[in-house]
Amino acid sequence: MAEARTVHLVQTAVAMGLIEEQVSLCYQCGTCTGACPVAAAGGMDYTPRAIMRMIQAGLEEEVLSSQTIWTCASCYLCTVRCPRGIQITEVMTQLRNLALAKGYKARKGQVYNQGFIDIVRRHGRMYEPELVVRYHLLTNPLNFIGLAPVGLKMIAKRKLRLLPDHPPGRPEIRRLFERLKESERRKEQGE
Ligand code: SF4
Ligand code: SF4
Repeated sequence: MAEARTVHLVQTAVAMGLIEEQVSLCYQCGTCTGACPVAAAGGMDYTPRAIMRMIQAGLEEEVLSSQTIWTCASCYLCTVRCPRGIQITEVMTQLRNLALAKGYKARKGQVYNQGFIDIVRRHGRMYEPELVVRYHLLTNPLNFIGLAPVGLKMIAKRKLRLLPDHPPGRPEIRRLFERLKESERRKEQGE
């Protein structure tokens, strides 16, 4: 048992070492972040550039518990543009594997919850097509492609709304969210 644990520790340390080696080439130009659609959509807690820097700084725990490694859509836009040839998409995959090996939980639920809250805040009620698109683009874009024909059929049969409708109480709902945000800010600052 102790031996298996030691092997596991060595394997995960080697995996992290290999990631660090690749990322050591990064000179923080930010091209990856500029190319990343998920970062632009606000779906990451740290940008790809910041993740590279955090790896260089040895912030393993923060990297492995970040939302970014789970919302990376594996689109390769960063990888093809990186002037240092760093395989950023592969690094994100390796980080996810390492996170699971070290007992961190996948963060897909967080993507769903954040999307749900954000849609209700903006529209005043749920708008399902946006949630489905957002969730699948941020967690598994290939799955989204498979769902698209079903979604179009549902829209054609009027089972799914093409555009969001806004309830009369939408301004009040927005104000509620603003008050909640303000109270969280105060709590964080100990006011
Ligand atoms: S594009 Fe490459 S070199 Fe530039 S910040 Fe991103 S990983 Fe680093
Ligand atoms: S592969 Fe991931 S990190 Fe790179 S641009 Fe796409 S979503 Fe962003």
